[in-house]
Amino acid sequence: LAGRVAPLGTTVFSEFSALALQHGAVNLGQGFPDFDGPEAVKEAARTAITEGVNQYAPGIGLRALRVAIAEHSARFYGQQVDPDTMVTVTSGATEAILCVLLGLVDPGDEVVLFEPFYDSYDANIGFVGARPRYVPLRPPDATHATWWFDRDEVRAAFGPRTRLLILNSPHNPTGKVFTREELEFLGGLCAEHDARVLSDEVYEHIVFGPARHVRAATLPVFADRTVTVSSGGKTFSLTGWKVGWFIAPPALNDAVRRAHQFVTFATATPLQVAMAAALRLPDAYFQELSTAYHARRERLLAGLTRAGLEAHSPEGSYFILADISGQGHGDDVAFCRHLVTHVGVAAIPPSVFYGPEHRHLGRGFARFAFCKTDAVLDEAVRRLEEGL
Ligand code: PMP
Ligand code: GLN
Repeated sequence: LAGRVAPLGTTVFSEFSALALQHGAVNLGQGFPDFDGPEAVKEAARTAITEGVNQYAPGIGLRALRVAIAEHSARFYGQQVDPDTMVTVTSGATEAILCVLLGLVDPGDEVVLFEPFYDSYDANIGFVGARPRYVPLRPPDATHATWWFDRDEVRAAFGPRTRLLILNSPHNPTGKVFTREELEFLGGLCAEHDARVLSDEVYEHIVFGPARHVRAATLPVFADRTVTVSSGGKTFSLTGWKVGWFIAPPALNDAVRRAHQFVTFATATPLQVAMAAALRLPDAYFQELSTAYHARRERLLAGLTRAGLEAHSPEGSYFILADISGQGHGDDVAFCRHLVTHVGVAAIPPSVFYGPEHRHLGRGFARFAFCKTDAVLDEAVRRLEEGL
């Protein structure tokens, strides 16, 4: 076992999906929809396969998809992106995240990230021998309507060795959507410390008004220093396709491409053809996606409340962090194990998304995914009402 993998166990997502299967539990753990993406997009993939688009794509991605990504950036954010020098296709956002770390961060550098974090950030920081500097997001309280951060804690995390800030908005698992003002503050610190930014925006189209998604790279303070990462998994309910991308100014893009060419080299060709079609779907598709998720959010929130679990309403993403501190099964891991084995519902214990120092901050919550059909959400709630 190499030192870089020795501390890593099985990811919490694999663990709880396996437990869900084993116990016949309703799986509100791992975040994947139980419905498929648009028929026209699936048809585009089938056609590409039938027509023989089955050999390696160019390493940086099919030009048709890179152009579609650039058009999407202009349509939704007014962001002007050159498809040849600023866009690269990857095998999911997950690959892009690793390549950003490999391409921009040296051993011993420091990377600032918020807790709770998406778990691959922390593992990838370890892979490149960098040091994580964690800043906890704090839950809503009397003076904060949403999850928030203490500006002094962020300032204290930055220093002479800071190389990268990892942003994730809409945020998994809190559902926080960072405001323009918060982003301006964070961008100012990055400018002061000459740090680069990885902005993970995979939930960019799952946002509930009045919150609005701000593409960090469109703010002047971020423009020259930011690698925007996204993918088609959530936006088109095609998480199994693993088609993602990163967008960055040419010099940064070149650095991350250098890593990408030796990580996967290229991404599934027919799925790239179909993803280009997906990104060109009319505005109505994107509106309906967030409207449908809004209804699912309301459904699960109301159900959790009936089952005695209080939760703050997420502004974006398809996750709800419910307060389990009064449930009396010990910490979040024990609670989620109990839930999956005895109540028949899988949820994710968020304390695994914290570094050791702040892990206790996650112990009073469980993460429920609402990217599921109504019948499945209702069955989960029925079991919670009966079994909790
Ligand atoms: N970032 C975040 C915040 C995620 O929640 C996920 C997982 N769905 C990913 C990245 C990975 O995305 P992909 O499936 O495109 O690799
Ligand atoms: N992003 C999804 C989640 O947070 C799935 C991640 C995974 O399976 N690696 O649940």
